[in-house]
Amino acid sequence: MDSSLPNSNFPTIRTCQRCHKLLNNDYGGVSLCPDCIDKDKEDYRKVKEYIQSHVNTSVFEVSQATGVGLKIIMQFVREDRVQIIDTKNKIKLEDK
Ligand SMILES: [Zn+2]
Repeated sequence: MDSSLPNSNFPTIRTCQRCHKLLNNDYGGVSLCPDCIDKDKEDYRKVKEYIQSHVNTSVFEVSQATGVGLKIIMQFVREDRVQIIDTKNKIKLEDK
């Protein structure tokens, strides 16, 4: 905590969800810095391609095969970009 900041929850101070770098601008409501937005797109592309070619794959398998961290995949789940199907952590692409 930086004590020079009177209010650490000041709404205009936003940090990147991934690297926690301070964001200078509001990038269209996305809480990621430009570097991480590119990385995010790349990671999602890898995850998506893997899921498309491997039906009934699991979150763990996708993470291992693509090198995309579990935390990042779980973030895609929270963003409704992919879906966890059942308790065995099967994963599929969100139908939109
Ligand atoms: Zn970032």
